[in-house]
Amino acid sequence: MTATAPREGELWSRCAGCASLLYRKRLRRNLDVCPECGEHARLAAPERLRQLVDAESFTPLPDRPAEVDPIEFVDVLSYPHRLSAARAGTGLAEAVVCGTATIGRHPCALAVMDFRFLGGSLGAAVGELITRAAERALEDGVPLVLVTASGGARMQEGALALMQMATVSQAIAALREAGLLTVSVLTDPTYGGVAASFATNTDVVLAESGARMGFAGPRVIRQVTGRALPEGFQTAAFLLRHGQVDMVVPRHALRGRLVALLAAARAGRRRAWRAVPRQAPVPAARPAAVADPPGTAADAAPAAGADAWATVRLARHPGRPTTLDYLDTAFEGFVELHGDRLGADCPAVVGGLARLDGRHLMVIGHQKGHTTGELVARNFGMASPAGHRKALRLMRLAARLGLPVVTLVDTPGADPGVGAEEQGQAAAIAENILSLSVLPTPVVAVITGEGGSGGALALAVADRVLMLQHAVYSVISPEGCAAILWPDRGAAPQAARALRLTGPDLCRLGVVDDLVPEPVPAAHHDPEAAARALREAVLAHLLPLLDVPPATLVRRRRQRFRRFGAARAGLRMGAR
Ligand SMILES: [Zn+2]
Repeated sequence: MTATAPREGELWSRCAGCASLLYRKRLRRNLDVCPECGEHARLAAPERLRQLVDAESFTPLPDRPAEVDPIEFVDVLSYPHRLSAARAGTGLAEAVVCGTATIGRHPCALAVMDFRFLGGSLGAAVGELITRAAERALEDGVPLVLVTASGGARMQEGALALMQMATVSQAIAALREAGLLTVSVLTDPTYGGVAASFATNTDVVLAESGARMGFAGPRVIRQVTGRALPEGFQTAAFLLRHGQVDMVVPRHALRGRLVALLAAARAGRRRAWRAVPRQAPVPAARPAAVADPPGTAADAAPAAGADAWATVRLARHPGRPTTLDYLDTAFEGFVELHGDRLGADCPAVVGGLARLDGRHLMVIGHQKGHTTGELVARNFGMASPAGHRKALRLMRLAARLGLPVVTLVDTPGADPGVGAEEQGQAAAIAENILSLSVLPTPVVAVITGEGGSGGALALAVADRVLMLQHAVYSVISPEGCAAILWPDRGAAPQAARALRLTGPDLCRLGVVDDLVPEPVPAAHHDPEAAARALREAVLAHLLPLLDVPPATLVRRRRQRFRRFGAARAGLRMGAR
């Protein structure tokens, strides 16, 4: 059970989590989160708004819900009687409060549900009010923030309540088409028709700590299955683990998270970040390669002095900076987004919103680790189909919001396990390759360590493909190649040389556009310097792409990959 926020006039309140008797004012100062055990008490919509939006900024929408009892529903009490009681008990006209406000000075439209009002149920009036909030967001060109708390559709309105799932969803779809961010904040509880529509079909889904969300409630599932439910079933942590939500956020951090999301969406919409003055000049030596057509940078690249096998070993070094390391050092303000929304959150792929030199973008990369424990937890950077689908979801979100995508590739290859095959690994990689080839936003890929086969390409169909000096990029691992084409796996060093998998070789082949220099002797000896080099290289290649119209960008990207065909291989098609 969850505590209900204390009513006016009560001095003390008992926590439903730990039964502590708490001084009401102290509890409210702590946002109705128990200071003893962290229990998040349910909030009334007006209190929720007070916590989330800038002071004095909320303006309710002018719309009033119509008085409706569309099917003249009667159980032990008539529906109008229950409505009147809910209105008297809450001081609200309906189970949702809608309006416009600013959050961290970013304007948005909001709809905040109130569970006290007939269990936050979704009826025709609630659906209509949320739809009008969405339409207002569309009209104003601002994001929509939904805070959900509901048992589901309102039974007293029959099928008309069910239809509201579609009504509100199509309003969300209109915002999606317009490239306007939609965010839902799941609070406890969010179930049924609300969970199966606008609580989860928004761009970003946050779950407040302590929230539970599901389509069917635990009691129903227990009755139907006749089984006990697993510990923590449908809790926020469960939802995160199963890829249903982007993040779990404690109440005190909720406002800050929303500010970060709204800031990124606003930047994408205005393309404001193009105008941000550079914080540090790009070194004069690098941009020369930028102006060149792709594939010519090899001329300026250092000669392949190092042996290919030595480079393979450096690329795999456990001390090498990982994607999360770069997000911490080369980028700022990373807000990680989780999950494929289909049932899993792959730990081998990380992604989310971040800033590069003050500019907002989406960063997606493979994540390895430095210790054995980290490597095992991240599956050695080998993405599952869920990882590829998470990456795809984030790429598409970036494109909708007008944000560029930077990918950091460091994987031995896609997960070769049984489960991955069952869940469609091949199709997941294929879909990413296809979608990236038409993604209407700038994409810069950087091979930071191992660029292993299809799993690497699933993040690397980009406008510019860069490679760290000691990274490798290959169709197969040298060991795998040796096992197939040589008498034994011991021939891996020879295979490494034969595969032409180092940066200088790939620059010459045109597969890679530019090399990112590493500190001497390699990135893991000075991760800060490696991060600086990566930041400068990405900026140097990304900035010129920003003014290219999306259609041109996509056409050039397709040409970039088209030219790896016959012409480059020296074939003469049709010649005899
Ligand atoms: Zn407590």
